[in-house]
Amino acid sequence: MEALIFDTHRGTSHDGEGLRTTFFFQGCPLHCKWCHNPEGIAPRPYIKWEARKCIGCHTCVKVCPEKNLGFTEKGLGIDRNRCTRCGICAQRCPAKALQISARVWTVDELVKYALKDKHFYDAFKGGVTFSGGEAALHAPFIIEAAERLHAEGINAALDTSGYCSPGIFEPVFLSFDFVLFDVKIADSDLHKKFTGAGNGPVSENLDRIAEKKRNREYTGEVWIRTPIIPHATDTEENILSIAEIIKAHHDVISRWELCAFNNMCKDKYRSLGLEWEYMETDLLPHTRMRQLLQTAETAVGGRVPVVSTGLTATDR
Ligand code: SF4
Ligand code: SF4
Repeated sequence: MEALIFDTHRGTSHDGEGLRTTFFFQGCPLHCKWCHNPEGIAPRPYIKWEARKCIGCHTCVKVCPEKNLGFTEKGLGIDRNRCTRCGICAQRCPAKALQISARVWTVDELVKYALKDKHFYDAFKGGVTFSGGEAALHAPFIIEAAERLHAEGINAALDTSGYCSPGIFEPVFLSFDFVLFDVKIADSDLHKKFTGAGNGPVSENLDRIAEKKRNREYTGEVWIRTPIIPHATDTEENILSIAEIIKAHHDVISRWELCAFNNMCKDKYRSLGLEWEYMETDLLPHTRMRQLLQTAETAVGGRVPVVSTGLTATDR
């Protein structure tokens, strides 16, 4: 079985419990305006160009069969509508300035790669996390991979937007030891404005996980994650509304994490030739994150532990 994966991180500590290896699967049904992994949204890979690595040899321009590349005063221009993603330019680039953003992996390859860090998972209670994009779009692959990891004594976490057909999502989450489940915006119209789709399937899937946990068909852990994005999710009203959802499921949720916006993906947008409306947006001030954390803690009244993660800006 095969799936497109656009990135891997080894030794991460923010995608579930302990030290983990995270695999990022290609393709996402949502288009969050703040997305930190823009190369993972489309179902197909992108051609990435990093100006700082380019030595200006023009090899790529000469070898592109579509005559699709050319230099302008802004750097290498790529007509992405005509690009067939054949990868010839990336193969021939001597400086690795051009790259295809994802490649096909087999389950065997993934398990072998994950096993490299088994001693760390054992020592630090970690494991493997499947993220994206939306990993649930690759349901048969990730279910088989989770089974294979379990057979090796490695726990598996699913980091998901929750936006997936419930019929597909149920067998997926039942295969994982942890579900890191995004609840970004409680109001469905605002969810649609900022992510491109209403949150109906997200609510339905969270209810389904809760039901399966209550009747003990699902014995894994559920963490809720809320990205705190300036002028989008960072309102008191949104936090209070999400707190109501958390309270309704407090008996099955182990933690609620508020994840601070970061702008460290600017270069990704540049290398893909994409505009990003958050290009000039700063990190959230530390006091603002503390205020939202206190709002969340007060609202859930100690029923669920609430934590904040990510970088914040020093207050001036
Ligand atoms: S991937 Fe192929 S078609 Fe696209 S720019 Fe490179 S050589 Fe041209
Ligand atoms: S082949 Fe690579 S190094 Fe040469 S001009 Fe193209 S992108 Fe730059």
